[in-house]
Amino acid sequence: MAYQPVGVRLWTNLYRFITLDGVSNKTAGIVIIGSGFAGVGMAIKLKAAGYHDFVILEKAAELGGTWRDNTYPGCACDVPSHMYSYSFELNSGWSRMFSPQEEIWEYMRRCADKYGVTPHIRYGRHVVALEYDDAARQWDVTTEDGTVLRTNAVVSGIGALHIPSFPEISGRGVFRGTAFHSAEWDHSVDLTGKRVAVIGTGASAIQFVPRIAEQARQLTVFQRTPPWIHPKPDFAFSPRARRALRLPGAARTLRNALYWALETRAVGFTIDPRLMKVPETLALKHLETQVPDPELRRRLTPDYTIGCKRILLSSDYYPALSRPNVSLVTDAITEIREHSIINATGAEHEVDVIVYGTGFKVTDALQRQHIAGRNGLKIQDAWQDGIETYFGISTAGFPNLFFLLGPNTGLGHNSVVFMIESQVRYVMDCLRLLSRTKARALDVRPERQREFNRRLQERLNPLVWNAGGCRSWYLDEHGVNRTLWPGFTFEYWARTRKMKPGAYELIY
Ligand code: NAP
Repeated sequence: MAYQPVGVRLWTNLYRFITLDGVSNKTAGIVIIGSGFAGVGMAIKLKAAGYHDFVILEKAAELGGTWRDNTYPGCACDVPSHMYSYSFELNSGWSRMFSPQEEIWEYMRRCADKYGVTPHIRYGRHVVALEYDDAARQWDVTTEDGTVLRTNAVVSGIGALHIPSFPEISGRGVFRGTAFHSAEWDHSVDLTGKRVAVIGTGASAIQFVPRIAEQARQLTVFQRTPPWIHPKPDFAFSPRARRALRLPGAARTLRNALYWALETRAVGFTIDPRLMKVPETLALKHLETQVPDPELRRRLTPDYTIGCKRILLSSDYYPALSRPNVSLVTDAITEIREHSIINATGAEHEVDVIVYGTGFKVTDALQRQHIAGRNGLKIQDAWQDGIETYFGISTAGFPNLFFLLGPNTGLGHNSVVFMIESQVRYVMDCLRLLSRTKARALDVRPERQREFNRRLQERLNPLVWNAGGCRSWYLDEHGVNRTLWPGFTFEYWARTRKMKPGAYELIY
């Protein structure tokens, strides 16, 4: 070990002691898992309430979740930044309507620093198990390095979109060129002059395809299902506009206007798929304007109701597909060979690089976790008929375990940061109840959870995500929607504003 002066060693040990970091670190009042928008947002509110005995366990070396991991060219948010940010930390300085990844990541780090959350983050701590001790009414949180942390409550802010999904295509392993996933972009690879294949045409791919089309000698885009795309109303805020947004109330007014504008999009999603005709017409017009070639247009026209999969926003994806060095392949991929991709027509496409824009293992993120609740109940057994929670936050049999951005709280029309903030408020309310009643833990009543899910699924059944004629990651293997909230976000906000003590069993 390198020599350190006594003063430095003393300070390091004191710091570790104060911050609960080190070998003696065996307990924490609350453990938060993940330091994305959810984990950091939870920590900020804990601190604001005067609660400091918590740690955030983060598997990576930096905070930021999605906005740390996704660094692909062109990565930006497809929700306006003034809405895709914390309501308590408005940022009049956003450079664009839809800010790029680096700026969002920077915003998150700034928030964590400003609210004193950063010292609570323990990096390189990948949580591998959560086990509830019935006698002590506490959780043991085990990290990959074997450390066990005892805690009263766990808040999971891991989200669902972080385990890259690779398609099961015969021969994928034999490819001799370079291959990587969009969420693990290999920036050491210079795509200039290369023959590049992109597999997938989802939210990530449509952002990086226009960028890499400018570099690659030949870009072949393999599309399985065409997405519906709306124009992206993106623009840079001028220095003058940014100054104006600093005026009292200006940024708040813009945020409110954006909120209600986005919320109106929920009408078709949450009431009746037939109302999706308006956005469908807009998307068809966009396609017609941007793709003059009728044959290409035909292959880019979806055959399912708009909104069934996420509606994408882009003004440069279609033009990129019309470039002479870009081709769109719509026949299924049947095989990957050492230097090529074969499609169902037997055509062989020689490539140097494959970029997988094939999304994430959504259900794995939740279901593969080692979580044992009351009486050793495994989460997989609790969820054997499908993932079920109460408002996406609590699940019966797992006291004091709270999910942020849990099942059925995703959105197709507005900012998930809004949902996160509602959930954080709810968890704070639960913690206050525990403190008031001196109960050690609370566990949602199974019958309340069942009833909540029965109604939720009843509402989801006729909606566009279920009935729109597509297959998306919103649905599980049985075709049940375990991902999205079926209503307006203000409904979720209103229903989670105060937790209902009657829905929970208090454990003393
Ligand atoms: P995605 O939307 O799930 O898209 C995956 C793409 O890969 C789809 O086009 C899919 O085709 C295709 N694919 C999957 N398996 C395939 C296979 N075996 N053969 C051929 N194609 C295959 O993934 P993503 O683009 O990474 O986005 C995931 C989610 O992240 C989004 O839905 C969104 O919620 C979020 N996201 C958000 C932003 C933002 O700006 N806020 C940006 C990027 C991503 P099919 O459609 O046929 O399945």
